[in-house]
Amino acid sequence: MSQTLPILETLPSVREEVESLELGGPRLGAKKSLGQNFLFDLNLTRKIARSGLPLDNGAVVEIGPGPGGLTRALLMEGAHRVVAVERDERFRPILERLATASNGRLQVIYGDALKVDLTEHLNAPAQIIANLPYNVGTPLLVRWLQTEPWPPWFQGLTLMFQKEVAQRIVARADDKHYGRLGVLAGWRCETHLMFDVPPGAFVPPPKVTSSVVHLRPRADPLPCKASDLEKVAAAAFGQRRKMVRQSLKSLGLQADGLATLMKQAGLEGTERAETLSIETFTALARGYRSLAG
Ligand code: SAM
Repeated sequence: MSQTLPILETLPSVREEVESLELGGPRLGAKKSLGQNFLFDLNLTRKIARSGLPLDNGAVVEIGPGPGGLTRALLMEGAHRVVAVERDERFRPILERLATASNGRLQVIYGDALKVDLTEHLNAPAQIIANLPYNVGTPLLVRWLQTEPWPPWFQGLTLMFQKEVAQRIVARADDKHYGRLGVLAGWRCETHLMFDVPPGAFVPPPKVTSSVVHLRPRADPLPCKASDLEKVAAAAFGQRRKMVRQSLKSLGLQADGLATLMKQAGLEGTERAETLSIETFTALARGYRSLAG
């Protein structure tokens, strides 16, 4: 007689799973150094999973499954394959039970997401959906946005960040949150703030509100090199209160080169970084490339 596999719906709750590890205390053993704030409410994790639909078109990549609250939701919402990267091996027994109950749809790689080459584990375009650890969330996003060649190996990014970071990702000119991250994200992706998640939804609760953002890669971003765009945005926002004729001096161009650069980008020189559109930043990046040689 064949043995019946446990199915997702019959697993203990995610909270019970973590409690069974007996890691202790009201924080349930959560490590601050790994940005651990867990979600136990399946209604909420399923809502996050649905923000990344469709889930059955290629694999879903999850960074930091932890005890698997979001992972379980992704599987329940119909993901055909989930490839998850987790640094903390304490969750291995829980994730193994989840992998069994998923009938082989879940693969967990134990390691540092900043070091794992995910493309080695994927053979088709993927969605990235994650409640990111705060300590590595921004470096991971910047790395994904710098992917070459473009369009990248992911079709969409559905990510939870601290609200303040989410606001910087979706910010555009004349928004007080606009800066280097908004320029890079807006250049390569359409960005949307989806919804906020209050601190009380997590165990342990973080100090600040979180937000889910969705980024969809543009098929044809305005032409320029990511490294040039980052250089001009870093120079301009490095002194965000100064006029660009002053802040762009840190690019190291000769005075006449700087004047040409601003003219080519249609700037007077008296503008401030936070008023420049992404289009203007890409014009500056192209101009910088031709002048810097
Ligand atoms: N996904 C779970 C949830 O929503 O309840 C946990 C999210 S928690 C905010 C972040 C997770 O990322 C933790 O499980 C943590 O161990 C893991 N993590 C932290 N740094 C990591 C890294 N560099 N690579 C992979 N996982 C990491």
